[in-house]
Amino acid sequence: MAREVGAVLTIATLLPDLLGTYGDGGNGLVLAQRARLRGVHALLVPVELDEKIPEASIYLLGGGEDGPQRLACDLLSSGSFVEKVKDGATVFAVCAGLQILGQSFSVEGNDKYQGLGLVDAETTRGATRSVGELRVRVGEKLLVGFENHGGHTTLGRGTSPIGDVLRGRGNDGAVDGYRTGNIWATYAHGPVLALNPWLADAVLESVLGYELEPVHSVADRLYAERCATLSRR
Ligand code: GLN
Repeated sequence: MAREVGAVLTIATLLPDLLGTYGDGGNGLVLAQRARLRGVHALLVPVELDEKIPEASIYLLGGGEDGPQRLACDLLSSGSFVEKVKDGATVFAVCAGLQILGQSFSVEGNDKYQGLGLVDAETTRGATRSVGELRVRVGEKLLVGFENHGGHTTLGRGTSPIGDVLRGRGNDGAVDGYRTGNIWATYAHGPVLALNPWLADAVLESVLGYELEPVHSVADRLYAERCATLSRR
């Protein structure tokens, strides 16, 4: 039985024109749809360049090229986003979004920029880009996706990664992303929440504060098949 929830869950996809490579905007669609399947009224709001950031329960940041990434960081640092996250709003970030939320990040040519400082993480520029499959062990679950970035991300001592890298680079070849209370981040594109529906549910559960009943969608079946295939390799 789906639980009926009166309040609206607002999910805001931030700056999709700048941070929207590899269909990362699809993460918002997945969260909204999986919330609705459980009887939660979800509203998905794209926030364009010239728009004010609305109140939302979940903010999404996607990947982007170096130039748009810097511009997105500038725009987000001058608005209310940082305060909203400090006040407890949830963020789910991918790649460039992951780098922006940290203390600093470097772009090609090694120019260093100040990040939003919401997470104790620093990204320097590696000698090579990491392009290809990314597979991460997150507890009992597998996170699958692909990466395309030049960053090497180092987490501060108190900052936990999202999981351990089984294939690909993620932050540094050993771990991927981070999870700090209300902030989730990974280097995986996909969109990653379409490839890993369990992760979408984990984000929703953390916001809603209760366990969601399973759904049996095509995405869930494909995820199970992918895991079964990978375990046979
Ligand atoms: N511009 C960043 C890099 O190349 C992030 C790329 C991305 O988001 N895919 O490292």
